[in-house]
Amino acid sequence: MRTVPPGPRAPMIPLEEAQAFVLDAVAPLDPEEVVLDELLGCVAAGVVVAREPSPRFANSSMDGFAVRAADTEGGSVRLRIVASVFAGDVATTPLGEGEAMRIMTGAPVPEGADSVCMREEATVDEHTQTVVLHRAVRIGESVRRVGDDVAEGQTLLEPGDEIGPALVGVLASQGYEAVFAHPRPRVGVLSTGNELAGPSDALGEGKIRDSNRPSILASLRRSGFESVDLGIVADTRDEITRGFERGVFECDAVVSTGGVSVGDADFVKSVIGELCPDSFRSMQVAIKPGKPFAFGVTPEGTPLFGLAGNPVSTLVGFELFVRPTLRKLAGHRQLRRPTLDMVLDCPLPRTRDGKTHLVHAVCCIHDDGRFHVERVARVASHLLHTIAHSNALVVVPDGDGLGTGDTVRAMILDVDQAADRPGELANG
Ligand code: AMP
Ligand code: MG
Repeated sequence: MRTVPPGPRAPMIPLEEAQAFVLDAVAPLDPEEVVLDELLGCVAAGVVVAREPSPRFANSSMDGFAVRAADTEGGSVRLRIVASVFAGDVATTPLGEGEAMRIMTGAPVPEGADSVCMREEATVDEHTQTVVLHRAVRIGESVRRVGDDVAEGQTLLEPGDEIGPALVGVLASQGYEAVFAHPRPRVGVLSTGNELAGPSDALGEGKIRDSNRPSILASLRRSGFESVDLGIVADTRDEITRGFERGVFECDAVVSTGGVSVGDADFVKSVIGELCPDSFRSMQVAIKPGKPFAFGVTPEGTPLFGLAGNPVSTLVGFELFVRPTLRKLAGHRQLRRPTLDMVLDCPLPRTRDGKTHLVHAVCCIHDDGRFHVERVARVASHLLHTIAHSNALVVVPDGDGLGTGDTVRAMILDVDQAADRPGELANG
């Protein structure tokens, strides 16, 4: 599959082709035992069955009185209070005819009792240790039955299921300390560029602070991946090679930014090509921003991403290429962000250039039940703050632009904010 890196005049390839090349080149990470504490967001790789029913024993869903429903027929009956059962305890004697036991939520229903009358529907006479129930109770009332939620042997998890907070709770309730799942991908992040300085470095003339590494590390964490900071390397073959080699050694994937364009110091694509002799492509993708993009898979199976260095291009490249691929490594079936048709509430001008434009935008749900794109950011790959409050990426096909009221396709980048009527884009 080796392809010669294209020169400046290399033909552009469609976005879908570039995405397919990348996604087809990777497979889910080998599953392993993942401990419960690490499991949130992971994808199960085996079947997990219930070791015991849930609830394990019949217990009260109310604070009240455990009774025999037959004793309460007609209502307004007086019963003798013979004992109390608290959550975590067990009644020491069975319940007899004409008797009631105080019972707390979660306590086992005593032998002989078949229902619970809630405390609010009973009047206690402490003096005589009796209770009058205001009405008849039905058999089984306010009792949580054995296996109501889960039967013993029932399938709790199947391969491909994503593990959310409730499933973590279910597994804990069943005494599982670890389950067989795809591990969370560990992803190394490398910035390339002689101009780059770290947060506390002195800024010499012509230098800028590195923003790509922090924004990609944050993007990884936001999407549930483990991130490894591989630092900044200078624009030399040696340094870039060493950076990638360290990443391949420590990580499941490596993302670098910068050095994939056609400048004289753009060595990243040739380094990725050398490290990935069997599966490599340096592409000019028909998108704006983020056109230059290099990708390969090392012989050990580690994907290496060379994203364009401009800060907005970097984040677009992360969304279009890196995130879906990492989700595949993580075993997910749904690889892409939720993408849907939205109503455009502002003009979206553009000119024909043979590229799909990816435009950061603010979207939210309106009273008509539809997502509306309220504002769009100016498109320029260096305007990082301009896109900083966006929650969607509008996909604008090649053409003469779109007008207010038109329908556009957009990826939702932040579902919480999309539902929440976010603020406005700076300089939108
Ligand atoms: P390059 O892709 O290396 O040609 O870089 C394109 C533009 O992005 C240049 O203006 C770089 O200075 C800028 N750039 C590259 N890497 C970074 C980074 N890590 N942080 C901020 N800006 C960057
Ligand atoms: Mg550079």
